[in-house]
Amino acid sequence: MTKHTALVSETQTMDAMLRARAARVVPGGMWGHLNAARLPEGYPQFFASAEGCRVRDVDGREYVDFMCSWGPVLLGHRHPVVQAAAEAQAASGDCLNGPGEVMVELAEDFVAMVPHADWAMFQKNGGDATTGCVTIARAGTGRRKVLVARGSYHGALPWCSPSVAGVTTEDRAHLLHFEYNDVESLQAAVNEAGKDLAAILVTAFRHDMGRDLELPTREFAHAARAACDAAAAALIIDEVRTGLRLDTRGSWEALGVRPDLCAWSKAIANGYALAAITGNDRFREAATKVFMTGSFWCGAVAMAASRATLRIARVTDVPGHIRAMGMRLREGLALLASQNGIAIRQSGPPQMPLMLFDADPDAAKGRAFCSAALRHGAFFHPQHNMFLSAAHQAADIDEALEAASHGFKAVLDLNSRAGR
Ligand code: PMP
Repeated sequence: MTKHTALVSETQTMDAMLRARAARVVPGGMWGHLNAARLPEGYPQFFASAEGCRVRDVDGREYVDFMCSWGPVLLGHRHPVVQAAAEAQAASGDCLNGPGEVMVELAEDFVAMVPHADWAMFQKNGGDATTGCVTIARAGTGRRKVLVARGSYHGALPWCSPSVAGVTTEDRAHLLHFEYNDVESLQAAVNEAGKDLAAILVTAFRHDMGRDLELPTREFAHAARAACDAAAAALIIDEVRTGLRLDTRGSWEALGVRPDLCAWSKAIANGYALAAITGNDRFREAATKVFMTGSFWCGAVAMAASRATLRIARVTDVPGHIRAMGMRLREGLALLASQNGIAIRQSGPPQMPLMLFDADPDAAKGRAFCSAALRHGAFFHPQHNMFLSAAHQAADIDEALEAASHGFKAVLDLNSRAGR
């Protein structure tokens, strides 16, 4: 494996030069979660290429990728079948005066794949889909209140952005909060909403940044469904991050709970820009009435890529393979941690894992771990759930575990410097 430390001096890297140029022409040098200030030391901000489960930065350093573009890459970067489908569509047209045949085919694919879905409509970003679901739920019920779990991420629009800059109280006037997996607090919020309850909006599992991931309890999932049924409100599942990685039918299908509306994006087109809303017949008329559109929402290339992605995900048990690779990573990390006498916590579904260090309130250990592992060729994240893809094979996981062993050494060094 390439050792990266000696390749380029830190000040002369292409990444550093691009950051300096970006600082002049892009506010803050970069927006949102990708701002350099949020990255562990040594992490690149700029990338040049990717193939399979490997991503290469602008300085030519290659990593086994455990972020998968923060979720969209499900089958591996530049999956040949998806690429061929996208290129074939691009050869005849992408952005036309309206949708192509592929839109109807893709809607048929979603309706066939997702048991709760009687219809589907398409957008570009996850935030388009979550916002659309909320709007359709309000239109369909004629009510205003939407219940969301405290700390859950549903996008960067004013009604749901984690930042309050530029947001008015009115933007969030009709949101009520509950604690994820806490039936009592959900019931309290339902009571508070009373006759004005339009929807309960919930992520497929709890994946708030920097805290242990939590799978939904059966009791919680059924309580959310029952509350919506009792009030004739909409249960909306935000599958933007989870969709197709856990269960191609929908993440709560195994719990026996189906939503009325569901927001999808990220993995559904293996890296091409696409989002989807699926819904049942109760909300068909509302979805017809709400005026929803976007200049690029009919893009045929992403839809062709999505059809190919869905087909592969259905026939090859993608979630099963990714889960097995995630288990191999999890077990390997657990072994390394115990060999080094370091206390860690691993949480979440193996397909979307998170490893946190005990007694690490400011994530200093997590960042030291990631920086050292990065220098040895593995791209992990210290606080956000990671993502595996169908392109990861056992040898890639083992290579990443070798990189992780250097990460654990860095944590030992940090501990000994701090006298821990
Ligand atoms: N919902 C969830 C659960 C997400 O993880 C995200 C994005 N990370 C979104 C919504 C918003 O998606 P987008 O950034 O594509 O608008």
